[in-house]
Amino acid sequence: MQRQAQLGPEETVRRPRLKPVASPAMQWNYAVLAYMVAVHATALWSLWAPVRPVWIAVAIGMYFVFGIGTTVGLLRLVCHRAFACPRWLEYVLISMAMPTGQGSPLLWAATHRLHHAYSDTDRDPHSPARSFWYGHIGWFVNALSTRPDDWQTWCRDIGQDPYYLWLLRFRMVPQVVVVTCVALLLGWRAVPFCFYLPAVLWMHATYAVNSLCHLPNLGQAPHATGEHSRNFLPIGLLALGEGWHNHHHAFPRSARHGLGPRQPDVAFAVIKTLQFAGLAWNVRGPGHHVDVVRRQRLVDKTTTP
Ligand SMILES: [Zn+2]
Ligand SMILES: [Zn+2]
Repeated sequence: MQRQAQLGPEETVRRPRLKPVASPAMQWNYAVLAYMVAVHATALWSLWAPVRPVWIAVAIGMYFVFGIGTTVGLLRLVCHRAFACPRWLEYVLISMAMPTGQGSPLLWAATHRLHHAYSDTDRDPHSPARSFWYGHIGWFVNALSTRPDDWQTWCRDIGQDPYYLWLLRFRMVPQVVVVTCVALLLGWRAVPFCFYLPAVLWMHATYAVNSLCHLPNLGQAPHATGEHSRNFLPIGLLALGEGWHNHHHAFPRSARHGLGPRQPDVAFAVIKTLQFAGLAWNVRGPGHHVDVVRRQRLVDKTTTP
């Protein structure tokens, strides 16, 4: 432990191979499975259909909207309170993420906090220690990977929020609204390319944080965090800063995940821009190292109002 604490950010702690954990009981959530098949088929079909140049710009913009909403809003703001901002801005950021059908922030934060508390054990909702594909997407279609009321235990700090409670019941409304707006502005033929393609690409960028960034043989792990989180450049780029995942596990409440000079972190740049504009404050940096024992205490802290 002493030697690991002296390692620089680019160095790697030697890790044991990923130990398999107990196979999860599998109960297909057929509604989610049908939704996933439908959105993937729609996104794939859009690649063969004729595309107008303006659609490409809209699709790229959508990817960044979904990405910033997820990384800045869901993860760093709501889940970890890595910075503070006005309530209206929090709702704007969350609303940017919601069209992708990721569910209420209550469900998202509960799953993520469970992941921090039990990373790469049999209680981790999406560890690739079970299997790569289970960690990537299988857990999402397994009705038993999480419980619908987990948020009542893990999200007591946001459990009374009326908007987040409303999203529990009407999680698909934001997608319907945005799809309708795209159709009215660009036509229905633009919807697969301008909405579903970037939505699916973003979904896999975030899933890759759970799967690729927890594989022992990829990237680097400068911090001994007690699980298999890794820093992995391709996901650092594609997931707008989320790929510096070992840093995130070491410093969960830090608004900045890319700590090295060659670790771009788009989400942190957005937070700094908001801070410069007076719209964000109490922006937390990496503090002391969070070891295995302190990890549970930190989760307790973030789930207590
Ligand atoms: Zn992780
Ligand atoms: Zn986290």
